[in-house]
Amino acid sequence: MNDLSLHLESSYIDLPDVFFSRLIPTPVKKPELVILNKNLSKELNLDFSNLDNKKISELFSGNSLPPGSSSIAQAYAGHQFGHFTMLGDGRAVLIGEHLSKKKDRYDIQFKGSGKTAFSRNGDGRAALGPMLREYIISEAMHYLNIPTTRSLAVVKTGEDVIRETPLQGAVLTRIALSHIRVGTFQYIAARDKKDELEILLNYVIQRHYPNIQNSKNKAIDLLKVVMEKQIDLVVNWMRVGFIHGVMNTDNMSISGETIDYGPCAFIDTYDPKTVFSSIDQMGRYAYCNQPVITKWNLSRFAECLIPLIDKDQNKSIELATEIINSFEKKYEEKWLNMMRDKLGLFGIEDKDKFLILDLLTWMHHKKLDYTNTFCHLMNSEIEKNENFKDHDFQIWKKRWQERLKINNNSPKKYIQLMKSVNPMVIPRNHKVEEVLNEANKNNIEPLNKILE
Ligand code: AMP
Ligand code: MG
Repeated sequence: MNDLSLHLESSYIDLPDVFFSRLIPTPVKKPELVILNKNLSKELNLDFSNLDNKKISELFSGNSLPPGSSSIAQAYAGHQFGHFTMLGDGRAVLIGEHLSKKKDRYDIQFKGSGKTAFSRNGDGRAALGPMLREYIISEAMHYLNIPTTRSLAVVKTGEDVIRETPLQGAVLTRIALSHIRVGTFQYIAARDKKDELEILLNYVIQRHYPNIQNSKNKAIDLLKVVMEKQIDLVVNWMRVGFIHGVMNTDNMSISGETIDYGPCAFIDTYDPKTVFSSIDQMGRYAYCNQPVITKWNLSRFAECLIPLIDKDQNKSIELATEIINSFEKKYEEKWLNMMRDKLGLFGIEDKDKFLILDLLTWMHHKKLDYTNTFCHLMNSEIEKNENFKDHDFQIWKKRWQERLKINNNSPKKYIQLMKSVNPMVIPRNHKVEEVLNEANKNNIEPLNKILE
């Protein structure tokens, strides 16, 4: 397997034993490769050309582990829909950390690889549809310039998993900067041992944020930098109309990548209250609530750090609160700038916010497609829509065109800016569903086509 140029290390197993549990993936009956991510392989400096499909299937099902792997399930906790639970990888195994030629470190994790010490009542397995859905959406996110875990391969197991009906089983290989979550901090903080928390803090800083290694107050600086990362991430989600669907604290990565694709989707018709997850009855994770929940999750993260911020607890709380309270202002600033880019606007003008909000309100009122409306503004007629002749829209358009004239702008410049942030193509939910249906009938042509 060394001809793969797979350089596996395991820094996580040097952490105290309570952080993980060792195990090997449960072998599967009849592994069969469904898809391998060639572009990602190249980026990671992995070469599979010496392996036939059978060997690749054995590898990515977990049936034969590569040299250098030391497989573990990671412990973590999480607020699930607001309720605190001790969790951990119930159906995932981290086989190690791959070092690319540039010495970048990536977790390699199998999802759907069998029961672990943290499985609770689950079977440890995953179904083909959801694993391919994660593959498609994570690829889309990556190419829309949004930080995300990636998908390297999907292998069918040749075994059924029992959900409402029997479904084909599969294992997804997930690549991440790390799988450390807000929930990882919650798990350790709940144990009430300051030395363990300090070890986690130092590990995270060394691995993800080495520039704050020598700072005076590492815990405070980590809170600040994770907040920046999460604001950037959620602003990006809002840019493309992405709804994560399950923003539990165990699904918020400390590295700032989008992680854990479940009932996620892109909005079609613009409605800020849109929810895709059938279990999210209250709309906790609705499109417009994503920044609110990001702040809520960051507050849970801040709570974990309290013992490390200052010896005086009141002082710690005061410092952390000050940072958390700056969330709204920072978010609004970044969101407005992102929306200015979507409209091709340079510089900052007082009336920009109204211009932006008026367009969104109109889009909502007219039930228009979020992505296609921006395509229309870029002169890309994706759909002929009579609504764009609407009187209110024409008035808005005049205001927009006046604003476009400011700050040395030109059609060439603004179209270029708009094209750099507005997607022409998104994986629309009904298309993704069609592809998954076909894949379940062993036809993967539509999968390859949508990815293209
Ligand atoms: P998720 O909703 O995917 O973020 O998962 C929440 C928790 O449930 C995590 O601890 C998962 O590992 C666990 N989990 C989800 N599905 C299964 C399963 N089929 N078997 C065991 N654990 C699972
Ligand atoms: Mg999760």
